Amino acid sequence: MSIFYKSDLIITNDGPPLRNGIVEVNDHGVIVSIFQDDTFQDYRFVEGILIPGLVNAHCHLELSHLENKITPRHNGMAGFIDQIFSGRDKTNMLECTNAMLLQDKRMFEEGIVAVGDISNSAVSIDVKKNSRIHYHTFVEVMGMSAASAQSRFDNGVSLVDQFIQNNLTSVSLALHAPYSISKKLLQLVNEHLKNNSASSIHINESDDEILFCKSKSGPLKEVFEKYKLPVNDFDNITNESVLIDCVQQLNNASPFILVHNVKTTQAEIELANRMNANLYWCLCVHANKYITNETPDLTNYTNDSLKIVIGTDSLASNHQLSVWEEVKTISQLNNQIPFEQLIKWATINGARALQLDNSIGKIKPGYAPGLVQVSNINFENPIVTFDSITRKI
Ligand SMILES: [Zn+2]
Repeated sequence: MSIFYKSDLIITNDGPPLRNGIVEVNDHGVIVSIFQDDTFQDYRFVEGILIPGLVNAHCHLELSHLENKITPRHNGMAGFIDQIFSGRDKTNMLECTNAMLLQDKRMFEEGIVAVGDISNSAVSIDVKKNSRIHYHTFVEVMGMSAASAQSRFDNGVSLVDQFIQNNLTSVSLALHAPYSISKKLLQLVNEHLKNNSASSIHINESDDEILFCKSKSGPLKEVFEKYKLPVNDFDNITNESVLIDCVQQLNNASPFILVHNVKTTQAEIELANRMNANLYWCLCVHANKYITNETPDLTNYTNDSLKIVIGTDSLASNHQLSVWEEVKTISQLNNQIPFEQLIKWATINGARALQLDNSIGKIKPGYAPGLVQVSNINFENPIVTFDSITRKI
């Protein structure tokens, strides 16, 4: 049996916005038809704006128990890593699972239908298996010594297999960040991506990162030495752009989600896009504010042909895993970004980055995008305000 939803404005991502349109959805959540008919009566009215389900392109569900445990803006990137390291091994498994369950539920209720989720362990498997959200898991590997590269890689591959054995087949390898990996590990992961290509990396997040990758010095070196990491072995050094070097070395990653981009320049964006046609530029502005209180120059991203996606990062560096809260802050940082473009970033672009764009991201017959109501918003002239909220219907 079908349900019909009528709304003041429908953003379909498949043609122009529809005023007073009606969407027919079947029992399986699949869109059957979309039409305008003022005489049609048998509908449920959705006040405000109807959009496809949201996509969180970058999250770390397994860090959900760290909510309010890391002090915001505490000595930048190095201070953040110091706090993460000092809190390791204090995790209670039950606390961790309950925190993941709660955040999974909250994400679903706000309208998130798919998540690109970084995992360093198997702890999130049960939550993901039972979730109403589609997760693409990026199994993250790191290790700055070439001597450990093979074993770090092997552990990553066996974790990928563990997800697959649990029927979580949307899974691939990802690298943590340019400052935490060896060239050898990078090569191993790149080779593996030939068969399993979607990947992701944290990049250009801070000046500390760039300084360490260019000269193996600065605050990151100090914090790595404090925790006895093999800094002397670190060989992923470049004199050029850290981002360009990374895109060049990981040439099998496609789609490739580049996360953070606080320090990314217009020139890097243009050159990198010429090197890899399937790059996604992921913004996580709340995490940036939390860690360094700096945010990307959003004027670099207003070109509609750029593939921008939105992530929340984790509750170690955010107060909520809400894509809509990220959209609000992005809109506040640059009020020149059109409403429809922001919706694309939060929906269809994320679906493409996670290779789900045959089923979600569009309100289109045959798709099952999940429908989301945006309320407390002026649907005549939509602008993202802080009062606006989203809800899965
Ligand atoms: Zn992250």
